[in-house]
Amino acid sequence: MKSATKLTSTKLVIFDLDGTLTETKSNLAPDMARTLRDLLAKKQVAVIGGGTYRQFRRQFVSRLNCPPALLGHLFLFPTTATAFYRYKKGWKNVYGHPLSKGKKRAIRAAVREVFKMADYIPPKKTYGKTLEDRGSQMSYSFLGQDVVALLGAKGVRMKEEWTKKNTPLKLRIARMLQKKLPDLEVHAAGFTTIDITQKGIDKAYGVRQIEKVLKVPIKDMVFIGDALYKGGNDAAAKKTGVKTIAVGGPKDTIKIIKRILNEG
Ligand SMILES: [Mg+2]
Repeated sequence: MKSATKLTSTKLVIFDLDGTLTETKSNLAPDMARTLRDLLAKKQVAVIGGGTYRQFRRQFVSRLNCPPALLGHLFLFPTTATAFYRYKKGWKNVYGHPLSKGKKRAIRAAVREVFKMADYIPPKKTYGKTLEDRGSQMSYSFLGQDVVALLGAKGVRMKEEWTKKNTPLKLRIARMLQKKLPDLEVHAAGFTTIDITQKGIDKAYGVRQIEKVLKVPIKDMVFIGDALYKGGNDAAAKKTGVKTIAVGGPKDTIKIIKRILNEG
């Protein structure tokens, strides 16, 4: 966690979701919800994550217990900012970039081919779909999409263990997929997932969309994420020149939010 980053004049705080505001695919904890409500009273807040809009609503918004007046300060960028939702008397979709049927077919074929090339055999037991069609994004989850929904804390532990052991494999498969799909964007997410979107869509795209739609200069933003390291799915945000703060998990994030509330 960097502590030297200047936070004064912060107007908008961008968070990654999984591993930053919540444990992976887990519900927002009450203490984080409280801290975020304090932040929303003072700043604009955007959340960019790989999960679907439905997942954002379930895991994050429904647990935030936020009065509607403050929800106007909250902006959601699910599926790696391939879609944007804001609150104006209810949640409204501002944009979306769905993948074509042909692109989705190409992704399914590439996944099969790359697994063969890498000699990767998926485990016999997975939880829910492994390759999920998220409309504007296809996501491959090595343990299955529903491992946390089905197993709870045990699922979180399984994902952490898998990540510790298999991150080089995940990064290698992501690189091979990117070669096979040159006109698409392939990103290894924080834990057990690889996300595939249209070309040019990553967290940098998300930051620029936030700048454009909300008219907040990038210099007045700060981006907080758990995967800002090289190859991580937050690293792209750095291309925009946005200030970034790397965190190890939600506990770090709460500390940073408190700093912003004091200094920013
Ligand atoms: Mg993350």
